[in-house]
Amino acid sequence: MHHFKYHQGILQAEAVPVPRIAEAVGTPFYLYSLATLEHHYQAFDQAFGRVPHLTCFALKANPNLAVLRIFARMGAGADIVSGGELYRALKAGIAPERIVYSGVGKKTEEIEFALKKKIFMLNVESPEEMRLIDQVAGRLKKKAPVAIRVNPDIDAKTHPYISTGLKKNKFGINIRESLEEYRLARDLPHVQIKGVDCHIGSQLLLTGPFLEAVEKLKKLVTALEALGLTISVLDLGGGLGITYHEEEPPRPREYARAIIQALGRESRTIILEPGRVLVGNAGILVTKVLYVKRGEEKNFIIVDAGMNDLLRPSLYGSFHGLLPVAKKKAPAIQADVVGPICESGDFLAKDRTLPLPQAGDLLAVMSAGAYGFSMSSNYNARPRAAEVLSRGREFDIIRKRETYADLVALERIPAFLRGKPKERNL
Ligand SMILES: *Cc1c(COP(=O)(O)O)cnc(C)c1O
Repeated sequence: MHHFKYHQGILQAEAVPVPRIAEAVGTPFYLYSLATLEHHYQAFDQAFGRVPHLTCFALKANPNLAVLRIFARMGAGADIVSGGELYRALKAGIAPERIVYSGVGKKTEEIEFALKKKIFMLNVESPEEMRLIDQVAGRLKKKAPVAIRVNPDIDAKTHPYISTGLKKNKFGINIRESLEEYRLARDLPHVQIKGVDCHIGSQLLLTGPFLEAVEKLKKLVTALEALGLTISVLDLGGGLGITYHEEEPPRPREYARAIIQALGRESRTIILEPGRVLVGNAGILVTKVLYVKRGEEKNFIIVDAGMNDLLRPSLYGSFHGLLPVAKKKAPAIQADVVGPICESGDFLAKDRTLPLPQAGDLLAVMSAGAYGFSMSSNYNARPRAAEVLSRGREFDIIRKRETYADLVALERIPAFLRGKPKERNL
């Protein structure tokens, strides 16, 4: 469900015609719909009904402050994976007691930051990290609330780059070895064990793997309680998939129902860490056609957004729908839609059939709200795109387009290199 629809042949975000925004902010830009974001959060959160739960939005999918504020206002927590994400979450007004911290490579300063801010829980991914957290907490005269992120060795049946719950993945502690690790952690003076955690992958299209994970966590909890540990929280991670093309992921309601059923008479607080499902289809990337280049073997539609703006097609071979912002009657062309970056891997879509565009036409890259802007870069010295939020008939710029000056703002030519290069004869 989303609010990007045609009205009299023109694509609108809620009630704002997309070309109006393009005129005001230039291209490319990310465009998110407030109504869609709110609807997605509500549908997800309410699916768990009265089960005691906390929905912690996984920031890495879309960490824009305005997006975070929208969720914060609705009571969301946050799943963070870095000190920078903690900073963003707090800045957006997400309460620290609603923040969980995941990630395999937390640094000392980041752990300190999290403990000082009194976040809800750190999800620990290795025995060494557990020791470091204990030390840091000791220094701060605190007790660190922790869960162990266990790796349940479950095949999430998704892209290998976004599968995280297999033995061969770098994430978590093997579930069988975790029992011993919990036992050791129990004796550390400055950690307080709160729960168990897992996150098995992203863009999951079946409930099966989630249920397998719940079963394995439940068994683990039973074993932990036999050791005398109190486990008050089950963190089930994120990973629910969305429709990019023809996928039919479980709806939040089905996903929740399956999980609730698998939990049985569990009364512990559950934590959910949805990312993509909240924001993916709530955002599009709007780009302008620069050239149409016909080749002997292939045609190319060259647009002003590239892999630096939206990396997913290049990185994972992901499919994103493409729509002309203004519907037109034109002969169809089959083409690759590519960006201006000097890499053959720079494409947004391959072998698509579209009404033949002209230079200046706008295209909407659909389902770009998750892992879109957040994975963007300045590669090829390209200022990053603007981000815009639509709200009924209005829109707001929620991140300005970067300027050339922004590109070099942090760079410095050392003194010994100062002075303009001398003129030379060629
Ligand atoms: C990325 C991530 C998520 C969110 O994943 P989605 O597929 O976007 O829902 C949740 N938890 C952890 C630990 C993650 O790394």
